[in-house]
Amino acid sequence: MIFTDSNETAQPRQADQLVTALPPLQPAQEALWTALKAITPVADSDDHFVREACIHALIAAAEGNHGVGAVIVHRGRIVTEGRNHALRPHVRSDLHAEMDALNAFERECLDVLPSECTLYSSLECCPMCTVRLINVGIGRVLYAADDAECGMVSRFADLPAGYREMAASRTPPQHFGRADCSESLADCAHEIFRLNLDALNDATRQRANTLTGDCQHGQRT
Ligand SMILES: [Zn+2]
Repeated sequence: MIFTDSNETAQPRQADQLVTALPPLQPAQEALWTALKAITPVADSDDHFVREACIHALIAAAEGNHGVGAVIVHRGRIVTEGRNHALRPHVRSDLHAEMDALNAFERECLDVLPSECTLYSSLECCPMCTVRLINVGIGRVLYAADDAECGMVSRFADLPAGYREMAASRTPPQHFGRADCSESLADCAHEIFRLNLDALNDATRQRANTLTGDCQHGQRT
């Protein structure tokens, strides 16, 4: 699924045009979907693409995974998107939302320069994804909600020097930071990530010692 915009700049769409189908939502997820639909993206901000990332985050949560989503944008057009698949339908420790979007990007966007792209994530990128994004050379990486526990962007100075130097050596240098989005969207991104977070983290911690945990069977926590 590729969303297209006819012009070089983002063209905000009506909320009900953002996705063709959502999986069944639990009440807390439904409330956040209602909140997302009620937000009017502010022009000349990152709201439009952050909201798209949040929708993919909500889909991930509805599927029983950590609620994180991402989109990659080239010249005002979403070229790929991703969402967290780390636990369900089966364990894939590598499939964070950014990874999912980057896999699709490298598979489907062979004629697009990474340096001309922006990845928008609903949540601050973890160390694994930050290093991958540096390796791929995505020009800008912007996130909506802070991740105080696992976020690497706010700790960018703690990366090994080789990665920091690689990011700085790009033309132009890669940029990692917060998106210029409305507070209500950042709050939604945070709340979507918090959905079932303790149970999801427990499943992640336990999977190394559990072959038949519920996450192996695709059941919701
Ligand atoms: Zn990650």
